[in-house]
Amino acid sequence: MRIECPCCGPRDHDEFRYGGDASVTRPAHGDPDPEAWYRYVYVRTNPAGLHREFWQHVIGCRQWLVVERDTRNHAIASVDLARKLPARKSPARKPSARKSPA
Ligand SMILES: [Zn+2]
Repeated sequence: MRIECPCCGPRDHDEFRYGGDASVTRPAHGDPDPEAWYRYVYVRTNPAGLHREFWQHVIGCRQWLVVERDTRNHAIASVDLARKLPARKSPARKPSARKSPA
């Protein structure tokens, strides 16, 4: 698999380190909801198809990249510098189903 680094050009994937799923959204700092943190740390979709992933060019420019890769055949659809992408906001939480006693 070859990854087209925006800074260095096409390089073998051995020069990169996988950095995890780029499609998950980190809960807001201080979010007390344990379910939101559980989903952030443990729950993954594992799709058969396009998947957004973090990769770092460790033997190169050391930049973090967001790579959109097809998990079925490793075809890469896009590569962007992670720092150039807009920060994603945490999804709005549903209001609690519990009601406080009146
Ligand atoms: Zn690079």
